Amino acid sequence: MTVLSRENFMSEKNARKKQISDLTCFGGSQIFTEPKSTSNLVQPDFDSFLHYSKQFFDQHRYTNNGPLVKLLEKRLAEFHNAKFCITFCSGFWGLVLAMTSLALKGKVEIIMPSLTYRRMADVAAWAGLKPRFCEVEPNSLSMTAETVEPCINNETALILAVHPIVNCCDIEGIVSLGVEHSIPVLFDSVESVYESSSIGKVGKFGNAECFSMHASKLLNGFEGGYVTTNNEELAHRLALLRGFSFEGQDNCVIPGGLNAKLNEIHAAMALANLDEIDLQIANNRKRYRWYQAGLSGISGIRLLEFDESCSTSYKNIVVEFLDDWPLKRDETVLVLNAENILARAYYYPPLHHKNMSYPHIPVSLKTTDFLSCRFMLLPCGDFVSCGDIDKIIQLLGFIYSHGFEIANCIAETAVKIS
Ligand SMILES: *Cc1c(COP(=O)(O)O)cnc(C)c1O
Repeated sequence: MTVLSRENFMSEKNARKKQISDLTCFGGSQIFTEPKSTSNLVQPDFDSFLHYSKQFFDQHRYTNNGPLVKLLEKRLAEFHNAKFCITFCSGFWGLVLAMTSLALKGKVEIIMPSLTYRRMADVAAWAGLKPRFCEVEPNSLSMTAETVEPCINNETALILAVHPIVNCCDIEGIVSLGVEHSIPVLFDSVESVYESSSIGKVGKFGNAECFSMHASKLLNGFEGGYVTTNNEELAHRLALLRGFSFEGQDNCVIPGGLNAKLNEIHAAMALANLDEIDLQIANNRKRYRWYQAGLSGISGIRLLEFDESCSTSYKNIVVEFLDDWPLKRDETVLVLNAENILARAYYYPPLHHKNMSYPHIPVSLKTTDFLSCRFMLLPCGDFVSCGDIDKIIQLLGFIYSHGFEIANCIAETAVKIS
């Protein structure tokens, strides 16, 4: 017999919704007392983190290209089969500096998807570039050579090829399009650290690739980012730019430098996590399989499957609501969030609908508009157990079978409030 703690016992009880008044949003009790999030939040072995940290601490080297940053860059370059790796204090500043370095001089437009990372247009603004948002392909939710090509014009300075949350974008197609039009290609590979495509491991494609080590991402360095490239000149330039463009003492050799260095304790955390990455992937795979089995029994919802013909992280759980799902996506998110299941809309609103004070090109994107209301991320990562997944799936099953009742009740509540 398994003995349940009081908290688990209550959680089991609260997960068994019998009528819609049992839902927390209508006055019932929450399934989870602790939030279940879509962030990874993986922790390495503490002694391993301390072991790395002791090295920089003993040497009194805290930042400015210290021993652990150098080791991490070497390890990551090997991991991605790329010649060079340059670390940064965040993925954001890695992206900005890669953009300013790669953008064609005298041109201002950057092609990027609209259905993507919510702060991507700000990144472009810091790089002095104007986003021209492109469509994505409905099956992969990712940009392809076909969706990028119509956006190319005389003002195009750069193509930002962003990998979607599940699987990769059309790497080969976009790289050859860039070559054909002599436009540089920068990959945002934040969501594809562990992925491969049929032409090899992510990290060496296009002119450069950018990654994040934010705590919510696959490789947790608390905060941090890195760029991989096979171009030595670019690698040298990025290493200068992140450290005030100083060469020697106080000698700024190129304009546009800032302080975007990674420090040693962040590198220690990232190294300890990198050592355990295969274990993390095994845990992710287990959770993914659990979701896959559970969700297959529920109508109206489709799990975005990982392409297992290549290496993949199994990290994010993304579902699509099909036409027979009884609630709107956002209503479903509301019901789940009330239970402390911090499900999130997939990249909503798309960037072309955001209020932007900085320059961009207004566009209408029908496919993106349609897709932006259909997808949702479910909890994943270290704080989600298979038992938690069972409860989440049980709740989704309840929502499906009581959907019309729930929708009516939400509508009535909205009327009462207004
Ligand atoms: C998180 C994220 C970034 C930014 O990374 P930070 O390290 O948080 O600055 C960029 N692109 C994508 C796709 C992201 O998810």
